[in-house]
Amino acid sequence: MSGTAPHARTGSSPRTAPRTALISGASVAGPALAYWLHRYGFAVTVVERAPELRTGGYKVDIRGAAIEVVERMGILEDVQRAGTDMRTGAYVDDDGKRIATLPADIFGARVGRDDEIMRGELARILYERTRTDVEYLFGDSITSITPVTPTAARATGAPRPGDHSGAAPEGVDVTFERSAPRRFDLVVGADGLHSTVRRLVFGPEEQFVRHLGGYISAFSMPNELGLDREELYHAVPGKLICAYSSAGDPRATGLLVFRSPRLTYDHRDRARQLALLQDAFEGVGWQVPRLLEAAREADDLYFDGLHLIEMDRWSRGRVALLGDAAHCASPASGQGTGMALVGAYVLAGELAAGGEPEAAFARYEAEMRGYVAVNHALARKFAKEMTADTRGQIRLRHLMLRILPHMPWKNFVAKKIAEDVQRGACAITLKDYPLPGRGRVPAQGGAADGAPGAAAGPVPAAAARTYAA
Ligand SMILES: Cc1cc2nc3c(=O)[nH]c(=O)nc-3n(C[C@H](O)[C@H](O)[C@H](O)COP(=O)(O)OP(=O)(O)OC[C@H]3O[C@@H](n4cnc5c(N)ncnc54)[C@H](O)[C@@H]3O)c2cc1C
Repeated sequence: MSGTAPHARTGSSPRTAPRTALISGASVAGPALAYWLHRYGFAVTVVERAPELRTGGYKVDIRGAAIEVVERMGILEDVQRAGTDMRTGAYVDDDGKRIATLPADIFGARVGRDDEIMRGELARILYERTRTDVEYLFGDSITSITPVTPTAARATGAPRPGDHSGAAPEGVDVTFERSAPRRFDLVVGADGLHSTVRRLVFGPEEQFVRHLGGYISAFSMPNELGLDREELYHAVPGKLICAYSSAGDPRATGLLVFRSPRLTYDHRDRARQLALLQDAFEGVGWQVPRLLEAAREADDLYFDGLHLIEMDRWSRGRVALLGDAAHCASPASGQGTGMALVGAYVLAGELAAGGEPEAAFARYEAEMRGYVAVNHALARKFAKEMTADTRGQIRLRHLMLRILPHMPWKNFVAKKIAEDVQRGACAITLKDYPLPGRGRVPAQGGAADGAPGAAAGPVPAAAARTYAA
């Protein structure tokens, strides 16, 4: 599936402000950034490795600053309409008997403004919102990224040492696995935990990954348990198993979490991921054999480590990272999606505020750093609490859950639990970036909303270092 931007043009003319942006990754961060950049007058191309929009994944919470972003995007109602509308959560024993049932909001530590939606649904809303204004290239991937050095240097053939330490680059030349080479004013890697853009520009993933001691898998499955907006949890030492069904979804979702030191496998090797799940959950009771079978049959299997991505900087020259690619906080934080939405808003706003992209990238990073640090700390804490180590700990948890509904202070307890989460979600104050069409200047040299401005010319001989696959 691919589309062509109505505003694409060939050739380029000298100008100081960026106008064309290539975004790698069409999940949450990518399309959210595409939305804002388009509003600021950029011509945007999004390249996604998958042949079509990826569905699947667990339910995700949008809270705090992220709610504000969704509201400013005008999609809050869509998000709420597509919400999970979960009613209850319960822990079950080996035989499936409910040990303790609680309202879903208490179970999910949701207080105040907090909207829960399936990740795939959110991706769909963002894609639908942008697809007519943004060029999407599905089934493709970036293979090299080369900074374009100033014209004078290229004309004289002066050697450029390659990276971005010399004169500011004028753009970025990009090659793809399938599409023809193109030039863009800037490139953003929103391609997740295993970002290709990060690997090409910053080096191997290994140096940025901090393993939090576990793995997680999510997949859709037939709703054989007859769940209706209910989530069931089953705990054994070192493992957590969950099945739930959200509003309007005829299928259920299975979730398997297990503690483990870092494992070596290719993150695209599905057979190996299934084998790792099989090993980890062999002999576990309740519905686990059925869940393992569903994982094998699923067309939307998600499997990944509870990892943080920790980097000293999120940009180099005209290339920046966004969302999980820059600062993955792992599913344990519960804030990855929110951070992706907020980061997209901030990055686009800073780019629209004017000046060279390098300066905008630095301001984006300065705005986001504190917010990300708070949520990384939360992820480290919650990753330890996702699973219990012993049967004794599990029994204690069950006991507390059993008495909680009968306690007058249950809402207070829920609020206490949710406090950390809210602190993370609200750990940034959003700036009011000027929007075109509202009487304020969009960007230095920027165009009015929807104005043309893409440069999609052929790639000249590389005058600087190429970051290649
Ligand atoms: C299918 C799927 C299921 C998920 N399930 C869960 C879940 O159950 N629980 C959870 O906490 N988080 C899950 N996540 C991660 C969650 O979406 C992110 O933590 C969060 O929303 C931040 O989003 P992101 O856009 O930064 O990164 P991601 O959501 O990871 O999106 C990255 C996107 O980039 C694409 N991509 C990867 N490599 C390339 C490439 N070389 N070229 C072009 N595109 C590329 C991917 O296909 C994906 O669409 C899932 C992500 C995906 C893609």
